[in-house]
Amino acid sequence: MIQQNLKKVRENIDDACRRAGRNPKEVTLIAVSKTQPVELLRQALDAGTYDLGENKVQELCDKYEILSREYEDIRWHMIGHLQRNKVKQVLDKACLIHSVDSLRLAQQISSEAQKKQIVAHVLIEVNVGEEESKFGVLAADAPALAEQMAQLPALKIEGLMTIAPYVDNPEENRWIFQKLRQLSIDIGTRNLDNVNMNVLSMGMTNDYIVAVEEGATLVRVGTGIFGERNYNL
Ligand SMILES: *Cc1c(COP(=O)(O)O)cnc(C)c1O
Repeated sequence: MIQQNLKKVRENIDDACRRAGRNPKEVTLIAVSKTQPVELLRQALDAGTYDLGENKVQELCDKYEILSREYEDIRWHMIGHLQRNKVKQVLDKACLIHSVDSLRLAQQISSEAQKKQIVAHVLIEVNVGEEESKFGVLAADAPALAEQMAQLPALKIEGLMTIAPYVDNPEENRWIFQKLRQLSIDIGTRNLDNVNMNVLSMGMTNDYIVAVEEGATLVRVGTGIFGERNYNL
């Protein structure tokens, strides 16, 4: 079941790349495994999907403990809102933190990374749709935040992330993805030290095909791989 879902999602990504004249190798599928039991994560891993996304620090750490004994090379992505007091725990486990949306959080990540003598790879989360319920910096404020973050010693900014609104028709989110891509180009042309704009983390189950057509390099798909989440477990 999970294996078939992964295959289908990957085919859809590859088709979207072809339509957009992109190389499918530019797009990495992250299986968003939040709330799912490790048994299902094993199925995704056994099917060859090594990029896993979690939105809670504790859950990521617990699953990391169990699965890092069984599999090498899992790439854990921290995709949820991150509190400063939890940075330390997740820092050496996540390959990429997608959800940096304030200088204070970025400073905390950099200072903890310095202590561990590592460099933290991060994305700036942008609330392109300007939804009040969502985290993320406003698009207008993202370039200034990138400039300030660029000064921090143990951070590497790899690109931008957005969570688009829930819509019935994914076409309604196309402008969001176009806007995030344009923003990444604008920030990229400033040629800041420690700032790369190579990564665009955008698109979820409902709208990842449109996101890939508009330049996504990381797509975060949960339900479309693992099925509905049960938050009562
Ligand atoms: C849960 C979540 C996803 C996956 O959502 P689906 O609609 O199940 O694909 C993607 N990104 C973030 C940040 C999430 O929290």
